[in-house]
Amino acid sequence: MPALSVFGAQWGDEGKGKLIDLLAREADVVVRYQGGPNAGHTVVVGREKYVLHLIPSGILNPGTLNLIGNGVSVDPLKLLEEVDGLRARGVRVDGSNLRLSALAHVIFEHHRVIDGLSERWRGEGRIGTTGRGIGPCYADKAARVGLRVCDLLEPDLCRSRLRAALAEKNALIERVHGAQPLELDAQLDRYVAIGERLRPFVADAGAEARAAHKAGKRLLFEGAQGAMLDIDAGTYPFVTSSNTGANGISAGACFPPRWVDRVVGIAKAYTTRVGEGPFPTELDDALGARIREQGNEYGSTTGRPRRCGWFDAVAVRYALELSGADGWIVTNLDVLSGFDELQVATGYDLGGQRLRDWPAHLPSIESARPVYARQPGWREDLTAMRRYEDLPLAARAYVEFLEREVDAPVLMISVGPERDQVIQRGRIQPT
Ligand code: GDP
Repeated sequence: MPALSVFGAQWGDEGKGKLIDLLAREADVVVRYQGGPNAGHTVVVGREKYVLHLIPSGILNPGTLNLIGNGVSVDPLKLLEEVDGLRARGVRVDGSNLRLSALAHVIFEHHRVIDGLSERWRGEGRIGTTGRGIGPCYADKAARVGLRVCDLLEPDLCRSRLRAALAEKNALIERVHGAQPLELDAQLDRYVAIGERLRPFVADAGAEARAAHKAGKRLLFEGAQGAMLDIDAGTYPFVTSSNTGANGISAGACFPPRWVDRVVGIAKAYTTRVGEGPFPTELDDALGARIREQGNEYGSTTGRPRRCGWFDAVAVRYALELSGADGWIVTNLDVLSGFDELQVATGYDLGGQRLRDWPAHLPSIESARPVYARQPGWREDLTAMRRYEDLPLAARAYVEFLEREVDAPVLMISVGPERDQVIQRGRIQPT
């Protein structure tokens, strides 16, 4: 009956894809519970590289059931594209190993159009969205005017609801933004046809997750994005539109919070962030550029260069605590080889006041200056190391310093993009 939650403990792109894929090999069921096709989990298997946006990472493991929960915003076009792409590469994807919640909200063409137009409208105040319609879809869900997957399966209902929704959205597109409205009939036909293609996958995903748990199966809940992008606890408004940690599971997968047995965060050995928003340890200089090059820090979905900086223990400690993490996994430790010295933010200075804890209640986080502790670097290449004792002393000292600062044990260390490039250190799986 064990259920494991794995989530990003920074601003996303922590390398969750590879680790979730690794952990998914031991899971009977893998569940996505939030976010949309903005996740870009990169999974490398042998020489093959897969980037998964919506489909849970367990899809590459034969025998694993993959559930897309009600809390995910689903772009059916992207989902079907992903299904087709995997099938073309010989991966089996059908209604027996991929189940889509009937209650998940649907991202339509108009959501994508409005996402782009609103971001343009905001100008300097833009959020840095990926423009995939996810925010507008969640907004419609909260406003109770969205359509769900189950609505796509009923052609008449789908037509009447979509017609009503589009009337308003087209007015917004045309009259506020001065852009071309969407052609109603074409949209209706398109989404009714898509509903038919989705039908084999549609299920009560929450009921399936609960039944699997009751049947003693091993469940893995994979978080997308990161805790610092959580809509409630993150750096609002520069956040994503969902609850990204273990806190999102109960609502986003209709799965009782008390049934989650173990919670594990994932964080890089340094920090990256895509898009706008506060980033206290950002290095807007040659050091930041060096981390970007050594870590190949370019978005797997968007190709955008990621902002890079030192490890922020304040943010990670906060992120792990929010989800009650039992421990965490540090990734990309290999990327830091070759630096003479490393810095770790252990607190912030806010106008002369020293803070140890993340100042979530302050709108002025931009003015926080990190207080750094220096750590010696190492020169060795870590990518072939598989045992903790193999790591250079300075790398071990760095890991141990991080775990003390974030107040949670490091259970695993990732030293490269391949699935086997990991060093085990503690228990991840629930017992
Ligand atoms: P996710 O969104 O959290 O899954 O992160 P991404 O998949 O966008 O980014 C992870 C990138 O780093 C991918 O290109 C991975 O192949 C790669 N990666 C994952 N773990 C490691 C690691 O420990 N070291 C290095 N150098 N690369 C890694």
